[in-house]
Amino acid sequence: MFRKSEKIIEKTHGVVSPVIYRYTKVVIESGQGSYLFDADGNRYLDFASGICTCPIGHSHPAVVEAINGQSQKILHVCDHVGYYEPYTDYMDDVISILPGELSNGKGIFLNSGSEAVEGALKLARYVTRRPYVLSFVGSFHGRTMGAAAVTGSTITYRKGLSGLFPGVFHVPYPYCYRCPFGHEGPEESEMACLRYIDLVLEKIVAPDDLAAIIFEPISGEGGYVVPPPGFMKGLREICDRTGALLIADEVQSGIGRTGKWFGCEHFGVVPDIIAMAKAIGGGLPLSAVVGKKEIMDKWDPSTHGTTFGGNPISCAAGKATLEILRVEKILENVEKVGNSIQEKFKSSAASLRAIGDVRGKGLMVGVELVGPDREPGTELLSKVLAFAGQNGLIITKCGPNVLRIAPPLNITREQAEMGVDILLTGIERFS
Ligand code: PMP
Repeated sequence: MFRKSEKIIEKTHGVVSPVIYRYTKVVIESGQGSYLFDADGNRYLDFASGICTCPIGHSHPAVVEAINGQSQKILHVCDHVGYYEPYTDYMDDVISILPGELSNGKGIFLNSGSEAVEGALKLARYVTRRPYVLSFVGSFHGRTMGAAAVTGSTITYRKGLSGLFPGVFHVPYPYCYRCPFGHEGPEESEMACLRYIDLVLEKIVAPDDLAAIIFEPISGEGGYVVPPPGFMKGLREICDRTGALLIADEVQSGIGRTGKWFGCEHFGVVPDIIAMAKAIGGGLPLSAVVGKKEIMDKWDPSTHGTTFGGNPISCAAGKATLEILRVEKILENVEKVGNSIQEKFKSSAASLRAIGDVRGKGLMVGVELVGPDREPGTELLSKVLAFAGQNGLIITKCGPNVLRIAPPLNITREQAEMGVDILLTGIERFS
């Protein structure tokens, strides 16, 4: 049943370094909408959407048409060689969905999430002429050297890499289910985390040496952790007080994933700079750094740049995707289906003690699995993930013990329920 897949996996191990971690052993050959098909013709419901890179499912006809149309004209230009309309047009669209003052902002396109984070950090340091950056324990910002320097989700990403981008201090993130300060309520947890930053600014980093605070509005790889409602406002206030820039890493939470265009909108906070990637390319590689106009205008020519960033085909795919998201009002679906997923897990939690916490916004839903004493259910998670794969559901994890539910944004309620039922059956069987 998996003969072709097995051969491909064996060949892969012969030529690809084991450094590439894979959440599943499925050999994916094609995709259509919310379904993936493996090399042996088996079908899977997709709860991963290419880790949030395919917001309207796989090979949507309008996106494929846009890619075909653009590829007939030109494959690549390179923004240093000259101007081209697909870049400008799509940047205009992206800026039009930004919140508050950012909707008069400016941006540049790059290639990957890590590159967007690196760009945002360089920009903040360049315009403020300040050396230090605050980031959070549990955050994930990417794997290139600068992005790894601000990452704090697992030691694996930093091991053996001393001397990364200097001047980064990690502070606790209000992961209230397991509060870093041992508090029970979100308010105490939020306050303790904000007070800790004040302490750092009193004892370790001079406020006028602080270039930026970089944060994820909803922590992604760290476990789909939603911070308490006032936390981001607290960060905004610290930045306003010190003159540091607030950088939101919306690589995972942006472009509708949470039911709003950007995760920070749930908290009523407008950052100074946003790093975005994944869904922005509609399935092709693309990322962006956008920021308030006065900040972006201080970024002098040639102090940053890219050869492939803003590829015209990626821009065309992203533009077509954004259009579908808008015209078909898909963000409403995100909220509706996301809520129904959370409700289903929450109502099952009464009888399934292994469901420790259910959280998220829109279609960024995390289900934290635990053992009898609330210890992380790491082994249980592995078993549930394997069970899901055997029963036709592709899903990844975030953190050591959290089911990461991130399907295409246009998944139907019925499809989502099918996936949730598989997961609940798995949790019941193995807990
Ligand atoms: N920031 C966040 C919040 C992410 O989730 C990721 C990728 N998972 C990155 C940055 C890095 O993106 P990339 O893998 O495209 O470099």
